[in-house]
Amino acid sequence: MPRFEDLLRPTPKGLYCPPGDFYIDPVRPVERALVTHGHADHARAGSSHVMATRETLDIMAIRYGEDFAATRQAAVLGEAVRIGDVTVSFHPAGHVLGSAQVAVELGGTRIVASGDYKRRADPTCRPFEPVSCDVFITEATFALPVFRHPDTAGEVRRLIRSTEQFPERAHLVGAYALGKAQRVIRCLRDEGYDRPIFIHGALKKLCDYYEREGIDLGELRPATLERGQKADFAGAIVVGPPSAFADKWARRFPDPVSCFASGWMRVRGRARQRGVELPLILSDHCDWDELTETIDELRPQEAWVTHGREEALVRWCELRQIRARPLHLVGYEDEAE
Ligand SMILES: [Zn+2]
Repeated sequence: MPRFEDLLRPTPKGLYCPPGDFYIDPVRPVERALVTHGHADHARAGSSHVMATRETLDIMAIRYGEDFAATRQAAVLGEAVRIGDVTVSFHPAGHVLGSAQVAVELGGTRIVASGDYKRRADPTCRPFEPVSCDVFITEATFALPVFRHPDTAGEVRRLIRSTEQFPERAHLVGAYALGKAQRVIRCLRDEGYDRPIFIHGALKKLCDYYEREGIDLGELRPATLERGQKADFAGAIVVGPPSAFADKWARRFPDPVSCFASGWMRVRGRARQRGVELPLILSDHCDWDELTETIDELRPQEAWVTHGREEALVRWCELRQIRARPLHLVGYEDEAE
């Protein structure tokens, strides 16, 4: 049986598998990359051979152009593929459309690198699938007991109620362009909001892609503001990437209510700092309970903890007699979530 570190190990370029000679979510260009999902900190352009789910490959092509890699290989969920001496398979991670965990196996030892994941229902992607393993590599974005994400529908209903309460004000919702934006829109529809939703141009290609993949987002209109049309946005919901709300674009809407959909909105100081009037606690990452319940469910021999608040989760594992270590991988952001 190989030592775990012989199968997968942290390096400055990302997680490296020596017997398969590939990296998982490398932060720099490499010869062979396995990519868990399309977020920019996990899926970077420039590697020669990229293996990912078909959706993640499509998303990379949308973001980086068709020539983002010399060759690409679509991973079929649950299907084992041999690379070098190891067997790899992809399994749903419940994070965004196309997101997957990568299981790496050699001589009866299995390590699962889960990438980013969540456990609660998301109408825009497949649910997380637990895969039994010897080592589970988990994210730790919200790995503190203070982070408990509230019910998604309740947060979305707060937004709808605010538009009813302030029918003369535009509601500007900051949401990450891949995943969060489409989830907010789809959840608004699930809560019965059927008015047109206005989107910033930066969201268009990805919203179109979600639609092509069968996720109905309802009527979307470009949030372009011509002279004299300000009143069209009274009481409307406008969704855009968080960065767009800091510039002049946002100030052209009528008396805007600044909203931000993020797990970080649990922290009042962050909302205040960003000038957010209506914080929506909506995350595509696990909260503390989801993280600990997942590790309890999998009961791996070891848990490797990465990108986020590693120490608290490592400590929690140790108290449960599960060996754990922080990986200290660099280059993965949690800010944009
Ligand atoms: Zn992500």
